[in-house]
Amino acid sequence: MKAHDGMYIDGAWRPAAGPGVIEVVNPADEQVIATVPAGTVEDVDAAVRAARAALPGWAATPPAERAARLAALRDVLVARQDEIAETVTAELGSPPKLSQTVHAGVPIAVTGSYAELAATYAFEERTGNSTVLHEPVGVVGAITPWNYPLHQIVAKTAPALAAGCTVVVKPAEDTPLVARLFAEAVHEAGIPAGVFNLVTGLGPVAGQALAEHPGVDLVSFTGSTAVGRRIGAIASGMVKKVALELGGKSANVILPGADLARAVNVGVANVMSNSGQTCSAWTRMLVHHDQYDEAVELAAAAAAKYGDRIGPLVSATQRDRVRGYIAKGVAEGARLAAGGPDSPHERGYYVSPTVFADVTPGMTIAQEEIFGPVLSVLRYTDEEDALRIANGTVYGLAGAVWAADETEAVTFARRMETGQVDINGGRFNPLAPFGGYKQSGVGRELGAHGLAEYLQTKSFQF
Ligand code: NAD
Repeated sequence: MKAHDGMYIDGAWRPAAGPGVIEVVNPADEQVIATVPAGTVEDVDAAVRAARAALPGWAATPPAERAARLAALRDVLVARQDEIAETVTAELGSPPKLSQTVHAGVPIAVTGSYAELAATYAFEERTGNSTVLHEPVGVVGAITPWNYPLHQIVAKTAPALAAGCTVVVKPAEDTPLVARLFAEAVHEAGIPAGVFNLVTGLGPVAGQALAEHPGVDLVSFTGSTAVGRRIGAIASGMVKKVALELGGKSANVILPGADLARAVNVGVANVMSNSGQTCSAWTRMLVHHDQYDEAVELAAAAAAKYGDRIGPLVSATQRDRVRGYIAKGVAEGARLAAGGPDSPHERGYYVSPTVFADVTPGMTIAQEEIFGPVLSVLRYTDEEDALRIANGTVYGLAGAVWAADETEAVTFARRMETGQVDINGGRFNPLAPFGGYKQSGVGRELGAHGLAEYLQTKSFQF
């Protein structure tokens, strides 16, 4: 057990203002592995002041130099990739391979993409007799969740720094250790004091203080819709800019001509990865009624194969929440084709990979975000029915379409009310904009669109 001290503020680790601590638990064995300080309003205030003081210098730093610092940061992350992976495995419980490739690998790719974008982005352009300037928004307050703990921090910090903004991050209380490691990496990369600051703490204390701080110009939040609503209300009351990445209930639409086995297997893998704790997971599989029974059988077999390879959920709270949804699915008449509410292990916050069949669109498990390894398989009669079901939730974050050919899949995907669709499998692209339609959020992350979130526009007329 390691007791960590201090907050990373103004380029140094400073003692926390108060005595409170947060225990960090390894969800695989329920042992307390570390404590971090629980930040207070005073810590947040010190961090925001440091970010404000550093803003003019960083905003005026030529983009090429900001790009060089981001490239240096990427190199430090590469050098510390094993340590990042081990830290995420310890505090989130993710299997080592996933920690290496996704939890460490994706943030490295994203930091690298912003090193390139900072160097090439058109921060100034001409239109007619005007020059248009894209200037940094200012101080960014970033509030992040635990599900992809480093990715969520990097997806906000890297574009903000590329844009010339300064940042205060309040990471999730369950996963503060990789956030501390990231602050060390920022320091090692030679990013000037005050440009990046980290305050660990509880959401309703440190998170709320950050959202409410008058020195914060933009609040970028990823997490639950309930908290997102509060953040949105605070920001609109203070006329601050706000970006919200919220939940999802994404549809994986398998059209009749598709390679059914591949679509089902990739679809199950998508849901089970990271123990289902992915906001963009394709948690509703939509299958034509003629192929429905075969698809359920394939999905149940694929889920059963996950068995021991799946990690625990992040906390007892999340495990109990997910079990509650499984019980609700059964109570509302869905049929368990694989898994169920029982835990496969005595210790740790595990939930078995679960597949529900005979799910109808109105059921709770077809409407609400479960955030666990739980797939609902729904049947449709024709394409219009599939589209109605796909679009029939308050969410619209991601999705997938499988068809005999790309054109057919794209034709369907154009009619989906969602921010990102994988066509016949797709491949992750760190430059593709990511974000929600409807109640899945406001704004976009990643690539040039993610950078634009941190810019405001001025024009000169000549
Ligand atoms: P959450 O929304 O409570 O927490 C996300 C972040 O917000 C954390 O850093 C937390 O400390 C902070 N926070 C909490 N209350 C706050 C407040 N009043 N003011 C300011 N900040 C506050 O999410 P959670 O409890 O960690 O997870 C609950 C559910 O949220 C999950 O089951 C899932 O449905 C959803 N979720 C979605 C995502 C996503 O990527 N969209 C990620 C994690 C969780």
